[in-house]
Amino acid sequence: MSDKNSASENLSKVWLSSPHMGKMEQKFVREAFETNWIAPLGPFVNRFEEDLQEYTGSPHAVALSSGTAALHLALILLGVDIGDEVICSSFTFSASCNPIVYQKAIPVFVDSESRTWNMSPLLLEKAIRDRISAGKKPKAIVLVHLYGMPAQMDKIMAIADQYEIPVIEDAAEALGSSFGGKALGTFGRYGILSFNGNKIITTSGGGALLCPDELSAQKARFLATQARDPAPHYQHSEIGYNYRLSNVCAAIGCGQMMVLPKRVQKRRAIFRYYKKRYRNAPGVKFLTEPAGSVCNQWLTTILIDPSKSKNGIDREQLRLALDAVNIEARPLWKPMHLQPIFQQYPAYTNGISEHLFEQGLCLPSGSNMHPNDMERITTILDGLLL
Ligand SMILES: *Cc1c(COP(=O)(O)O)cnc(C)c1O
Repeated sequence: MSDKNSASENLSKVWLSSPHMGKMEQKFVREAFETNWIAPLGPFVNRFEEDLQEYTGSPHAVALSSGTAALHLALILLGVDIGDEVICSSFTFSASCNPIVYQKAIPVFVDSESRTWNMSPLLLEKAIRDRISAGKKPKAIVLVHLYGMPAQMDKIMAIADQYEIPVIEDAAEALGSSFGGKALGTFGRYGILSFNGNKIITTSGGGALLCPDELSAQKARFLATQARDPAPHYQHSEIGYNYRLSNVCAAIGCGQMMVLPKRVQKRRAIFRYYKKRYRNAPGVKFLTEPAGSVCNQWLTTILIDPSKSKNGIDREQLRLALDAVNIEARPLWKPMHLQPIFQQYPAYTNGISEHLFEQGLCLPSGSNMHPNDMERITTILDGLLL
């Protein structure tokens, strides 16, 4: 656009979170080419799955084309079907609940608690009781660990177990996070991961389903490869999907797994840097991990209360000031119960996610940010917040 501030055109873009390749990815991709394993299966898919199992401690991992595909398969494996109700965190990205609607099931949204910003155990129990007394027991719970922050898994799992409702953990943003020393994605019946371009590690696009047993992993692989019955003539007795991860993408994933611990360290260092600098800024708050939880700090987030902040600045003014110098920041996720497409569904709310959406901002958190990028960011933030 011609009227755009010309200064911003000269400054390279600082992204919220951009892909950060290590040393081995290209070598592995070359190996995939040299061996002609250019297919949605192959040695790198197997290796990537083993790497994920080893890192998370999950007995089985199935590499898939996206985190959304993994969620979809998890719902299918749990038998979620037309008209079933599925409880889902409201404070999340739409990919958490879209697959519920793919199954023609009904999402029932549950709001957040202020300690972790994730699903409120109190409201979860209220929602379950309410749905049961209305004659419809929820078929599953999609529980999201947003921005890598572990939900209160002890409480959530105790409630889910008490009512015998299986949990699908959406750990798309939470690879590298843990609760009580156990990796997220391994508490529920199923866990899902995402390797989309902006996640803590990426395969350009991809995901994984974490499964507790061999049988469900086999069934997931079967469904993800068009549900072909064991016959030479392509026979089908179920509807299948084309959801497997390409061996080329898995080659990238194998390289990324080698640097994942370093990526987590770096993101946590970025969080500490922001927090140290701005924790005493008026009206600014950070979300900190509760004792026993480790957050991968995929994105550093802040809350800005304009009734207390310097010159009454709000999150949108701050976002625009960063945008004007080509720095990407983003409001926190808009809760699902406030989305036009999901407004019609039942929701158990307490105002917390709505408040977070109003005051929250994600700051650039990429592990590949240059010190100059940090300097550009802090110049703006210092001026407006301190
Ligand atoms: C990214 C993301 C997904 C979806 O993962 P894709 O690989 O992009 O399909 C699901 N849930 C949450 C919370 C996410 O951030």
